[in-house]
Amino acid sequence: MRLYVSCDMEGTAGVCSWMQCDPSNRHEYPIYRRYMSQEVRAAVDGARGAGVSDVVINDSHWDMRNLLWDELPADVRVISGGRKPFSMAEGLRAGFDGAFFTGYHARVGAANGVLAHTYTADSLYNVRINGVLCSESLLNAAMAGIYGIPLLLVSGDRVVVEHVKEHMPWVEGVIVKEGIGHYAADSITPKAAQAALREAAARAIKNANSAKPFTFEPPITMEIDTTRVEQADFIELMPGFTRVNGRTLRFVHDDYNQIFRAFVCSFRLGGAATAVA
Ligand SMILES: [Zn+2]
Repeated sequence: MRLYVSCDMEGTAGVCSWMQCDPSNRHEYPIYRRYMSQEVRAAVDGARGAGVSDVVINDSHWDMRNLLWDELPADVRVISGGRKPFSMAEGLRAGFDGAFFTGYHARVGAANGVLAHTYTADSLYNVRINGVLCSESLLNAAMAGIYGIPLLLVSGDRVVVEHVKEHMPWVEGVIVKEGIGHYAADSITPKAAQAALREAAARAIKNANSAKPFTFEPPITMEIDTTRVEQADFIELMPGFTRVNGRTLRFVHDDYNQIFRAFVCSFRLGGAATAVA
């Protein structure tokens, strides 16, 4: 059995501040990247105990160079480095039997979602697909869905876990903390989170047969509200995008792969638009 793991950091137990997730921070980040790595390790160990053989881990936070190699088993593969074409969903392809999302966080705009955002709050104020307000979890789960791969486990705060289970009730959810607004949390300890992840991962693999791939029904309509109007000016130039209003753009396609590519282009262009301001 082959497992794909996309690991973010904001949903790691104990994390409540950008200082803990920002690689340029020399005080808190080195501590929390270790906890992030240990949570991934715990999930992999639990899955392995339940029959998973091959594991590919996609480092999905910030510049995507967070995982500490010496915290991981020797026989996994790790995708790392920034500007991957498919970003947090890089490496998803046919052949995996399931996916785990660890350290994930709530969508942009969610109340009590610790450090909630969707890819980048600098450019993306809201992302809707077929009218559903999307999180990174939904956007990335639908990439797995293209290949018939079900999401089996998600970990993070209560808001992201409940959001995922609302759309994918079969997913094993590990709530490691309760958000108290955007920048505070009531969390279990890293050790307790790792134990919970190990157990949940084993359950998720054992119950994999009852999980379903997550997909959006075609024709798929993506609407993006940008944070700033000049970002929409850039995105509108891309073939296929329609400007709905000053800060809202629409892209429609039957193929979710094309939707996701358009999405990645959008936030990269959004970043470029503000960089030249
Ligand atoms: Zn992140």
